[in-house]
Amino acid sequence: MRALLAAARDAATLCRLVQEDYLSANTKSDGDHSEPVTIADYGSQAIICRALQQHYPHDAVVAEESGQQFSALVSAEQRGQILQLLTQALRQTVTESEVVAWLDFGAGRSAPRTWVIDPIDGTKGFLARRHYAIACGLLSNGRVAEGIVATPGYNDGEGALFYTRAGSTYRAPLAAGEGLRVTVSLRYNPGDIIAAQSFERAHASKSRMARARELAGLGGARLLELDSMEKYALVACGDADLYMRLPREGSRYAHKIWDHVAGVALVQAAGGVVTDLDGSPLDFSQGETLPNPGMIISNGAHHGRVVEAVQRVMAE
Ligand code: AMP
Ligand code: MG
Repeated sequence: MRALLAAARDAATLCRLVQEDYLSANTKSDGDHSEPVTIADYGSQAIICRALQQHYPHDAVVAEESGQQFSALVSAEQRGQILQLLTQALRQTVTESEVVAWLDFGAGRSAPRTWVIDPIDGTKGFLARRHYAIACGLLSNGRVAEGIVATPGYNDGEGALFYTRAGSTYRAPLAAGEGLRVTVSLRYNPGDIIAAQSFERAHASKSRMARARELAGLGGARLLELDSMEKYALVACGDADLYMRLPREGSRYAHKIWDHVAGVALVQAAGGVVTDLDGSPLDFSQGETLPNPGMIISNGAHHGRVVEAVQRVMAE
């Protein structure tokens, strides 16, 4: 995992360079749903998948971006920028065919171990210079096993690297250095609870989440709104106690596994609880999407009460 921690740090450096020098986005579309994608998404994924190819050559990979999309969507000028950024980040000359091969490494393969990569989670936050994350999770036989999440915006832009190792969760400085073990909070008093939720209105129903907190007796919780899997990391290290993801009314959005695997690993190894809206475990065995309509993540203190409240809100 050491090589992957280094890759996540290199990917974060590349993302910061892109934010400083080249920020712009293309739009990719899969049917009825479209999302922004930047050169940093491809650069970050190339760095992480290159490390996977070197250290885990037989494993499978499910990653958000693809080599084909890179060739089809990215202009010649942007491809040149990506090569330059990668050459800088990896301290070696990088060619376009190498980038395409790295982006697609392990794709479409089936193996007992599957790495699940979101090269930039929260691209909208990245573009708006809010929060984003670089995520690398591991599924072992369809179950969440390990997670690495780099969060460049953590603690007012100081940045952090969260990762699991041997059943515990650690937080290290983003720049370099070993991590210290973290655990979920022991906060229980409803007035002290800190709840994290998506910044983007389109991604979850803020009114349903407010109503669920109210019904669970947590109406006085302090709210943190931020993009990306950093919310999972905040629960894992005790900076937040509850993170709900309730679908907007009428939403048919299918959650992608790369938005969750690494974060779920962090929270579980830190002693927290992650469930579907009905309290059952999330199901990562069904390919790229989850069958679960939403998520409830917590330090465990009020989990049962929140599940009950969410059930009532969803039935209303
Ligand atoms: P967050 O900032 O926590 O909302 O997470 C960002 C992620 O939300 C992105 O990586 C998207 O894949 C995902 N996303 C995009 N659209 C939706 C939607 N309509 N509902 C839920 N999640 C979404
Ligand atoms: Mg994402």
